[in-house]
Amino acid sequence: MSSTPSRTTKRLSLASSDEKTGLGNYFIANYPPFSFWTSGNIDAVYQTLAKPPQRPSPLGLYIHIPFCRKRCKFCYFRVYVDKNARDIEDYLEHVLREVAIYSRLEAIRGRSLDFVYFGGGTPSYLSARQLRDFIGALKRLMPWERVQEVTFECEPGTLQRPKLEALHELGVTRLSLGVENFNDAILEENGRAHRSAEIYRAYQWIRDLAFPQVNIDLIAGMVGETWENWRECVRQTLALQPDSVTIYQMELPYNTEYAKAARSGHSLPFSLADWPTKRAWVNYAFEELLAAGYEISSGYTLVRDKQRVHFRYRDALWQGADLLGTGVASFGHIQGVHVQNHTEWDTYLEPIRNGHLPLYRAYLCSPLELCVREFILQLKTGQVDLDYFQGKYGERIIVRFGEELAWLCDQGYALLDGKQLTLTRAGLLQVDRLLPIFFLPQHRTNRYV
Ligand code: SF4
Repeated sequence: MSSTPSRTTKRLSLASSDEKTGLGNYFIANYPPFSFWTSGNIDAVYQTLAKPPQRPSPLGLYIHIPFCRKRCKFCYFRVYVDKNARDIEDYLEHVLREVAIYSRLEAIRGRSLDFVYFGGGTPSYLSARQLRDFIGALKRLMPWERVQEVTFECEPGTLQRPKLEALHELGVTRLSLGVENFNDAILEENGRAHRSAEIYRAYQWIRDLAFPQVNIDLIAGMVGETWENWRECVRQTLALQPDSVTIYQMELPYNTEYAKAARSGHSLPFSLADWPTKRAWVNYAFEELLAAGYEISSGYTLVRDKQRVHFRYRDALWQGADLLGTGVASFGHIQGVHVQNHTEWDTYLEPIRNGHLPLYRAYLCSPLELCVREFILQLKTGQVDLDYFQGKYGERIIVRFGEELAWLCDQGYALLDGKQLTLTRAGLLQVDRLLPIFFLPQHRTNRYV
């Protein structure tokens, strides 16, 4: 393939002009971008839910637990740090009612769940008793027998042994531990509630209980990070021998504490690493983990044994699975329709109290948009089989995106071998920066929101 100066090259060279960590989102979570989802499309969700499923698809359940001990200064999720025990009980009761409403609708009724994900926020903020009551009730609302994976996000400082015992008994198969960093000064500066001693204490219990899979999350480029400290973080991660390690690159979305401080003219206490430095840190971690026998599973994650360690939630979503997104501000996808719940406490609870789903905005995807979405998301694994898209959508990616693929190859970000597209390490480390070149013309905006 050859490239000529073109609209594609121009588009990407514009995007690559600034390597400083500026304000705004970097991570591409979905497609089309959220800014195109509207409340006017909510009817499409109800129409879809009123019909039996038109295409076979695995079914997942995402539950958002929006409570945290403290708000991290880089956090952009919907979280609350001021709710009392009664608020939490009230919230859980409403999530159960929301799941109950879904379970009675034609598109969902009788379908077994294939995977479940407890995210947040901090799901491990809940007590052992709350977890037993809540997950027990969920299991009575939806067929659970076929569930292959239950992921549960944990903040190390919220874990006690009895809580982990409850999670083990309740069938959690994949614990994801939000370590982020092992340095107490960096954890404190970034507003994290936990410290390194809590990581080690929790990890021992987790291993004693032999959860099938343990993932450790790290963030490259937290405020105050240095090469010396990052090497030490990677060393300590390897010493714990988790089943998988997921590394995000620090970004500054507009609604974070750090971004607000920067916008109001307050300078940050440390300068933030630029993107090349963060990529170099992730690359270092990749090299160390590969040398220790881990394998690359995506641009963010390495696993200890690819045959044994799977992440079904991610893989199913990236292949277009249905997902009931429950809880405040949650995102779901049902039979080609994207949907998001209301994003505020009261606007989320009130519709459910009145027997309705708390839907805020939606997007009805065309077959081409679904195809592009899957292509973009699967590219995050670093390897894409182009025949998959021809078989599923009748779309010849090589024709649709010939110019873009040629540009990626010319720049050294990808290799094309027959029907197999493989990102190079340089491409994989900045995959979210590259993905917008595949956005359809109507979805190209200055920034991803
Ligand atoms: S623990 Fe996670 S969800 Fe909670 S404030 Fe920190 S980054 Fe956000």
